[in-house]
Amino acid sequence: MPASALLKQHLGVHYPTVTHGEGVFLFDDEGRRYLDGAGGAMTASIGHGVREVAEAMREQAARVAFSYRTQFTNGPAEELARRLTALAPGDLDHAFFVNSGSEATEFAIRAAVGHWRERGRPHKVKVLGRELSYHGMTLGSLSMSGHAARRPDYGSLLHPFPVAPPAHAFRFARPGESEEAYAARAAEAFEREIVAADPGTVAAIIVEPIVGAAGGVLVPPSGYLRRLREICDRLEVLLILDEVITGLGRTGAWFASETEGVVPDLLAVGKGLSAGYTPMAAVLLRTHLVEAIASGSGVAPFGHTFSGNPLGAATCLAVLDHLEAHAVLDNAVERGAQLAAGLRRLAAAHPFVADVRGRGLLWGFEFVRDARTGHPPDPAHQAAAVFVRLCFAEGLIVYPAGIAPLNNAVMLAPPLTIREDEVELLLELLGAALNGMR
Ligand code: PLP
Repeated sequence: MPASALLKQHLGVHYPTVTHGEGVFLFDDEGRRYLDGAGGAMTASIGHGVREVAEAMREQAARVAFSYRTQFTNGPAEELARRLTALAPGDLDHAFFVNSGSEATEFAIRAAVGHWRERGRPHKVKVLGRELSYHGMTLGSLSMSGHAARRPDYGSLLHPFPVAPPAHAFRFARPGESEEAYAARAAEAFEREIVAADPGTVAAIIVEPIVGAAGGVLVPPSGYLRRLREICDRLEVLLILDEVITGLGRTGAWFASETEGVVPDLLAVGKGLSAGYTPMAAVLLRTHLVEAIASGSGVAPFGHTFSGNPLGAATCLAVLDHLEAHAVLDNAVERGAQLAAGLRRLAAAHPFVADVRGRGLLWGFEFVRDARTGHPPDPAHQAAAVFVRLCFAEGLIVYPAGIAPLNNAVMLAPPLTIREDEVELLLELLGAALNGMR
C-alpha cells in the first residue's frame, strides 16, 4: 500500500496537512501557521472559518442540499442570479451556474457557438484567445488558453484556436514604446487574427481583463478592453470576459469590466463567488443572447448535474452577504494601496524584482535578471518556484505565475478582509523570503 492513496500535483513532495483556518491564516497538523497571501489560488476572498457562511451551509443542507435543475428551480439559485445580475454592468441580466472556472469558460464557448446557431449562422464556431492566458483545464477551456506549460500534447483533443498577443507592455513593447501605444498595437494584432481566421467562422474572443496565473497580474492600460469591444462589435464576434479571478471584489470593484467601462456578451466568474466555501462558478449573459434562445430553439442545454444546486447557491449568498455587510470591497481598495506601496519598497531594495503591478488586492511582480534591463531570468533558475518555496518556509503562501521563458512572476491575492497589521506581516515575510533569494 502506498503511504497515501491521494494523487497529488507533485509526486515526491511532502504536503503538510491543513487542519483549520481562521481569517487570513491556515494551520497545519504540526502547529505551523501560514498567512494565506494568495487566498490559496486567488479564491479565499473572505478568509477562512467564517461562521455565518458555515451556518448558512448547515441550514440549507438540512432543508434541501440538492435538486435537479430540469425538475425544479430553487430559492437560493433564483436569489443569487438576481443579486449577481444586479451587481453586474450593463444588461448582463441572466446567470447560469456551474461548478468551476473551467466549466464557466467552457460554458461560454457552448453558449457563444450556440448563440450563432440560434441566429442561423452555424459556421461561427471558433473562439480566439491570447498568449499568456489561462481559462481552465477542461479541453475546451484549455483550447482557448495561451498557456504552453499547461497544454502538453493532447493531440486532436485540443482545438488549435489562434491566439493573439497579450497586452503586456513590460515584456513585449518596443524600446521607447508607451504602454498605451503597445496596447493599441496588441489590440490591432487581435483584430488581424480574427480577420485571418475569417470572422464568418469566429464565434467569440475570450480575454481575462487582468491576466492571472499565466502572466502574473497583467493589467492592460485603460481603453484596451474598450477597443476590443469595438472590434468585436464591428466584426460581429462575441466578447467573453473571464473574470474568474477578478470578479466579485478582487480588484476593489465588483467586476474589473465595470472599472474598464466594458459590457461583455458573456462574463465568467468563479473563485471569489464562493470564496472557496463550495465549488461554484457562474456565467452572466447579456439579454440579446437569451432573446436569441427564446426566439429560437427555446432551450439552453448547457448544464451539469450540480448546476445551481441549492446548497452551493445558499453558500454563495452567504459570501455575498459577508462582502456587503462588512464593506469588504472598500477594505480591498485601502489594503491594496498599502500592499502596493510596500511591494514597491521591496522592489526598490531588490534589483531582481520588477514591474510591481495590480489593482485592489490582486498584485504581482516579475523576477528579472536586472531591473534596469528587465531581461527575464534564466528559466533554469525557476525563480518564481524557488521564491514560493522560500515564502512557504517563512509561513507565507504566494502563487507562482507566468510562463518561462517569457516571464517568471508571483501573484498576491490575500483575503479581501485582511487587516492593516496583517498586510504589514505579509510584507515582512515577503521581505525575508526575498532576502533569501540573494
Ligand atoms: N479562468 C481563470 C482566469 C483562472 O485563473 C482559472 C483558474 O485558475 C480558471 C479560469 C479555471 O478555474 P477552475 O480552476 O476553477 O476550473
